[in-house]
Amino acid sequence: MSTVDDLRAYLDGSPSPWHAAATSAARLAAAGFTELDVTTPWADVPVKGFVRRGGALVGWHRADGAGPTDPLHVVGAHTDSPCLRVKPRPDTGAHGWKQLAVEVYGGPLLNSWLDRDLGVAGTLATRDGAVLVDAATPVARVAQLAIHLDRDVNEKGVVLDKQQHLTPLWGVGAARDGEFRAWIAAAAGLTADEVQAWDLCLYDLTPAAVIGAEGELLASGRLDNQVSCWAATTALAVCAPARGTAVIALFDHEEVGSDSVGGAGGPVLEHVLERLAVAAGADRAQFLAQLAASSCISADNAHSVHPNYAERHEPGHRPIVNKGPAIKLNHNQRYATSAGSAAMAQRVFEAAGVPWQVFVSRNNMPCGSTIGPITATRLGIDTVDVGVPQLSMHSARELCGTEDPVSLATAMTTYFGGTW
Ligand code: ZN
Repeated sequence: MSTVDDLRAYLDGSPSPWHAAATSAARLAAAGFTELDVTTPWADVPVKGFVRRGGALVGWHRADGAGPTDPLHVVGAHTDSPCLRVKPRPDTGAHGWKQLAVEVYGGPLLNSWLDRDLGVAGTLATRDGAVLVDAATPVARVAQLAIHLDRDVNEKGVVLDKQQHLTPLWGVGAARDGEFRAWIAAAAGLTADEVQAWDLCLYDLTPAAVIGAEGELLASGRLDNQVSCWAATTALAVCAPARGTAVIALFDHEEVGSDSVGGAGGPVLEHVLERLAVAAGADRAQFLAQLAASSCISADNAHSVHPNYAERHEPGHRPIVNKGPAIKLNHNQRYATSAGSAAMAQRVFEAAGVPWQVFVSRNNMPCGSTIGPITATRLGIDTVDVGVPQLSMHSARELCGTEDPVSLATAMTTYFGGTW
């Protein structure tokens, strides 16, 4: 499978954060990594292993003979993307339509969810534990109002009230309590009574596609930030660490601030690192020394310059698609990059033989943030923010280049190798 086809398979197989964690887990398991249970103490820690907490995954590969204070080479990314989530009592409707009550997750471009064929994916809670479900069938649609009933829409823009205008249709007739529960249970091979609760995303069923005159672009949902999850997983699966320990941390809940059990603001990465250190025989002083000697590449997509809106970009720092991942800088610490960590990233990119660019936002334009500053703040690890340039960030269907994700995976593999 070509590398871009492999990325497309990752994206199409990961319609929710829990699926992204499962896709990465399956790929690591196939590469010889052992999954450990976070609810038990670890006696023997494998050289190559991983854990999952909901939609988050932390994986590692220790170099032969790595000592307790040898550095960690950490890559961070996030599995979640803005979307519509199904509410616990979803069966609603009016005027002969059946509808699903949904909650807006994160900051999606709301208009991009209009008039798409939507499936449902996520996790169902049962007495026996969580069950992944992907109802990959066109079941729902947020229908846009006809232009005849909204004459100014092209001049004034689409204005969508999150409560009133985003409720998807999913049939005709009278809404019946319990109908959605029975439907999603059947999609998972369960009875309605077995499904106690859920975390479910609506998603655009259109598969990832290579587009452009010469196939140089990739269109898909969830490029932010599953491109980075794919690159991190690919790199960890194939890397050969010469020193220290390669670590990937695929966090959940970045789009809503990262404060959760599986978010970058939570303890999931720190706890794994501490368990690895303890298993290697380190005491607390050695663990703290190890953190201070370590580094982190926080990977999250960047804004490519948009030719129709070039004035929205800082003139000297506008990344271009397929010219390499961007090192992202913001001295107000929306990004964690410092001169030292930027220089490290440059050495990694150059050792990997891949191009790189620099992104800085305009002074009069607010800058998004990433898991980078949060991880750096929690753990005291020097961090650089990097990312693949893309357009249409937070759309239900985003756009990036076909070369930059491969460059990012190549650079991460070199970084994990430890010789740069
Ligand atoms: Zn992101």
